[in-house]
This record gives sequence, structure tokens and C-alpha cells, in this order.
Amino acid sequence: MTRIVGEEQYEPEVRRRSVRNVPFFIRDDLIDIITDHGDEGLLQDSEIMGLIVGKVYKDDDGEYAVATGIISSELDADDVSVRFDQNDMTQLIDEIDNLKEGDRIVGWYHSHLGCGCFMSDTDIKTQNGLFGGRIGFAMVIDPVLRQLKVFDSTMDDPQPIQIIVME
Ligand SMILES: [Zn+2]
Repeated sequence: MTRIVGEEQYEPEVRRRSVRNVPFFIRDDLIDIITDHGDEGLLQDSEIMGLIVGKVYKDDDGEYAVATGIISSELDADDVSVRFDQNDMTQLIDEIDNLKEGDRIVGWYHSHLGCGCFMSDTDIKTQNGLFGGRIGFAMVIDPVLRQLKVFDSTMDDPQPIQIIVME
């Protein structure tokens, strides 16, 4: 899979996070966009996916990410798999090119239809392709079971992590 996050060096801004030891912060309106996307997919019996834009900061405990937006694109999906449509990446590439100063891709999300939120072998490969061990989060939602979990890219065997959802 195409590596979307560039190889460029970046220096995270130093800023103490509001809650210690939680590596991922996201506003509830962004969660709503993701779960609405999941519901739209479910109506078509289809998984969905997208990328989570945000800023990376660091404090004494290490790096953490604050989500600021969501981007998606045409999808090539069915009820057990999803990927960006390789023939129509224009929207996605445009949106990545037009990210605001300091913003980068901090995660991705996708849905599972009724089998719960976990990282499949394919999901782990996608995650490694996107982030290669750098900070980046995988949000998995299940619109059938109404579940949401977030996994950390830096783990070999991804386990759900705590996140902070901000109003
Ligand atoms: Zn999956």
C-alpha cells in the first residue's frame, strides 16, 4: 500500500497534555462524522474508511496526538474489506496536499460489520504501511454492535488504548 505519510522529519510541538498518559484526543463532532460514515456504509452493507488529521505534540511523557479533522475518498469496499479506490485517489491527495500548517495524518478509521472492533492481520499491515511504527492511531468502529476502539500503531500486537473525547 502507498505510504501516505511522508518521510520528512518533523519536530512535535512541546505542550503538556490535559490528561496524562492518554496518547489520543479527539472532539466528539469528529467521532460523529466517523460513526455517521459507518452508518452510511452499513446501509450499503459495506465497510468504510478514512484518515484522521491532527497535530502531534510532546510533553514529559512522550508524544500524543490531537485530532483536528477527517478526510476520506472514494472507496473500494464490501462487507468484509475496504480500501481507498486506487483509481480515484485525487480527492484524497488534494486534501492531504491542502492540510493546514502543522497538521499531518495522525490516524485512520475503518468499520467492521458486526464482528466487533479488533485489528485483523490486514489492518495491522495497513497500519504499518501508513505509520511504520511512528505515532498513529487506528480507530475501528462497528456500526452493527455500536462499538468503537482505538489501537496504537507503535504496538506489535495492537491493544485498545484509552482516548479522550472532548466536547
Ligand atoms: Zn479491519
